[in-house]
Amino acid sequence: MSNLLPLQAVLNARASVPAGDAAAGRRGCPLSDLRDRLRRAGLRPTRQRLSLGWLLFGRGDRHLTAEMLYDEAMRAKVPVSLATVYNTLHQFTEAGLLRQLALDGSKAYFDTNPSEHHHFFLEDEGQVLDMPDCGITVDSLPEAPEGMEIAGVEVIVRLRRRGPVARKA
Ligand SMILES: [Zn+2]
Repeated sequence: MSNLLPLQAVLNARASVPAGDAAAGRRGCPLSDLRDRLRRAGLRPTRQRLSLGWLLFGRGDRHLTAEMLYDEAMRAKVPVSLATVYNTLHQFTEAGLLRQLALDGSKAYFDTNPSEHHHFFLEDEGQVLDMPDCGITVDSLPEAPEGMEIAGVEVIVRLRRRGPVARKA
């Protein structure tokens, strides 16, 4: 969290870059990158999308629910409703920027890494972890039903914490 610049500072900084330095300033600027990324995905970079995108993508690959992102937005003083957070997450997912994970019937998790990979899911704590690349090999798949093809394979390995180790009497 400490490496994340204050959101309002970043959003307000763009106006103060002198015209001549714009190109230099833009290179490597995470906010400009985000704006380009939204545009490339066909989404208008509104302030709300930029704010939520900044929170979502500014901290590497991770997995979160709408409620988790909403809490972060409140802490960062981003004025959004939970409904807006839901809508934005679904728009980002449809645009291919996020991947929705089918882990838990009651809650949707979103992955900021949209490429295909597998997960550990710690059910009791609602925690999602990426499986290491070498974690699993799926080398035998059933034939897809007539007229269909397999679009992807996602493996979820469900975990639970080990119970307390029995003490010797
Ligand atoms: Zn993941």
